Formats: sequence, C-alpha cells, structure tokens
Amino acid sequence: MAKVVLRNLSKYYREQAAVVDFNLEIRDREFLVIVGPSGCGKSTVLRLIAGLEEINTGDIFIDDGRVNDLPPRDRNIAMVFQNYALYPNMNVYDNLAFGLKVHNVDKAVIKEKVEAVAQMLNIENYLRRKPAQLSGGERQRVAIGRALVRDPSVFLMDEPLSNLDARLRNSMRSEIMRLHRRIQTTFIYVTHDQMEAMTLGERIVVMKKGYIQQVGTPEEIYNQPVNQFVAEFIGTPPMNFLPAMLKRLGGKLVAQFADLNYNLSLKPDIPVEAGKGNGKNAIVGIRPEHIRLDEGTGEVNVLTAKLDMIEKMGAEKHLHLMLGEMPIIVKTHGDYSVSADGRVDIYLPPDHIHIFDRDTGLNLG
Ligand code: ADP
Repeated sequence: MAKVVLRNLSKYYREQAAVVDFNLEIRDREFLVIVGPSGCGKSTVLRLIAGLEEINTGDIFIDDGRVNDLPPRDRNIAMVFQNYALYPNMNVYDNLAFGLKVHNVDKAVIKEKVEAVAQMLNIENYLRRKPAQLSGGERQRVAIGRALVRDPSVFLMDEPLSNLDARLRNSMRSEIMRLHRRIQTTFIYVTHDQMEAMTLGERIVVMKKGYIQQVGTPEEIYNQPVNQFVAEFIGTPPMNFLPAMLKRLGGKLVAQFADLNYNLSLKPDIPVEAGKGNGKNAIVGIRPEHIRLDEGTGEVNVLTAKLDMIEKMGAEKHLHLMLGEMPIIVKTHGDYSVSADGRVDIYLPPDHIHIFDRDTGLNLG
C-alpha cells in the first residue's frame, strides 16, 4: 500500500526529452494506467519511479518520503516487464524465491510465500520446471509471482501482456484485475493498447511525446477527450474527423462542410465568438458508434452518404462511407444491410458531436 507522487519530473537522454514536467498523484491502492503510442515516454516514467533511471529534474515521493536518492531495492517496489526477465537456469520455485533469498528471508517463510503465490497464480504444478518448459502465459505468471512474493507497496507493470496472443491477453487482463482487488496494492501499468487501458484502469493517463495530455477515468477520457489526439487515440475504430466552418445562423451554432451544402446543428453552448468574419475553422468529431442509421428522415443532422466498403466483424459491421469527399466510418449491428444503390442516411446526434479547434486541436465542447 502506498501513495506515489510525481512532481515536475523530467528526463532527457542526451538532448532528447523523454518525459517533460510530469505531475501526477497516484492514490494508495489505485490501478493507474499510462497509455500512449510507442516512444511517448511511458516506460521512462515507470523506470524513474522504480529508480532504474536517474531523474534530471523533479521529485518522487512514496508515501510522503522523497525517494529520489534511494536505490531501487530500497523503494519497496516490484516491476514486471514485457519480456518476463526470468532466470533461465533456475526452476520456477527458485525464480519465485530469489528476491527473498537475497534479502535473507527465513527458508520456511520463503517456502510458505512461494507456495501461496504459486497457488494464487495457478502455477503450483510447475514449480520444478525451468522457464523454457513453460508457455508464454505461464512465464508471465511466474514473472508476476516473483514480484508478488516480495509484498511490494507499489506494483509497476510495463506492457506485461504484449507478448501473449489475443485470447490469453484477455484472460490475463481479468486475472490482473482480480489480483489487484485481492492484494489491495497500488498498481501502475503501462501499455500502448487503448483497449487494455480502458478495461484495466481506474484512471488513465494519456501521454504524447513526453507530455501528459489528459488524466481521467476511462469514461471521462472517452466522453470528454481534451483534444483531438486523445479523441483519436481512445476508441476503435477511431473517432471520425470532418473539417468544417463554425457559424452562428440566427442565434444557432452550425457547422458547414466545405463541399456539402448543409448546416449541421451543434449543441448551443460551444464557446465560439459570434459574428466574427466568416466563422471559425474547426474539426467536427463523432465516434463511429454514435452515428445512427435508424432515424426517421426529415430530422435535423441527417445526411446522405455513399457506401465505400463494409468491414464485417461478426456481431457488428463497420460501414466505410463517403460524405461528399470526406470518409466517415459508422459502427452498426452485424445484421445491417445497405440498400442496393449504396446510399446511406446517417444521423449525427448533436449531443455526441465534438468540436475541435483546427489550429490547437483543443476540444471546444
Ligand atoms: P514508451 O515506453 O512510451 O515506448 P520510452 O519511455 O521507452 O517510450 O522512450 C521515450 C523516448 O526516450 C523515446 O524517444 C526513446 O527512444 C527514448 N529513450 C528511451 N530509453 C533511452 C535510452 N536508454 N537512451 C536513449 N534514448 C532513450
């Protein structure tokens, strides 16, 4: 159990910034996920917390103690890596016991702890095997077990499931959630996979090029992305983006698409300065799952698009449409069939439309 506070953390490799002015408080027993594209600095944040890299500027506190100068072994932190990092010559029992042996823990205590952890992770039948005799999933369990036996107050996980196939990844994800519930310890988990972040995290930190973009619950990040980057990164297929011009017509805020003669109605409370020249360049954002196909005609915000192609996913279909010159994806149910002429009426509900500033990418509402 521990709270972790990161203050103004920065890390440079030579001149290159890996993490810049990173500020975050991770609550005691929280499951926090750091997500972002490859190279955005996620692992570096973990390695700084673990003490595996030196900080250039800033402070790290664990339970109010400043740990900047503490070596990794004194931080009471355990880290699980993508590549397992097991000792190949030791069997599973010795791999699990190693961290305790080097701390001179009593042999009987080691046995008790190793057996308890092995049972918790369902690896008690493999204790005499070497890592090479285990499947990827079993190896990852051992790696997690090795961290668990030390009763760390903070658990760091760096893409622990990336080497596993999709099915195994799903089941390990649930196991990690159960494990967190059971051992009531602070988890900080790094992944590039937004689905993994959304399913595991109590809170998510989205990073880009060394900077935090947004911190929030999965719902907040999905429903109120602060900018176009976060909006695009979270959700599959990604949010649709349509360049438009914002205007006020008779007090109503609308978005005009360049090559379509259509005024799309927007929520009235988006802060756009009224009456300014020709309007404001913006990007209309709407998620594929929020576009509806079953609305009656004649409503506002119903536009006719043309079918380009269909991706069949079994339970659902992704319609790739063209709205004038603009591609747009709509997620619908698996039984949906498109009319023979390939024309599809789509309804864009104003409540689900995001407006992004075309210059800054910021979400205006
Ligand atoms: P992520 O985990 O998000 O993929 P990393 O934290 O591993 O990103 O890396 C962030 C940036 O720092 C990248 O540009 C990477 O190339 C660079 N970097 C990471 N480790 C080193 C290192 N040991 N030496 C030089 N550059 C590094």
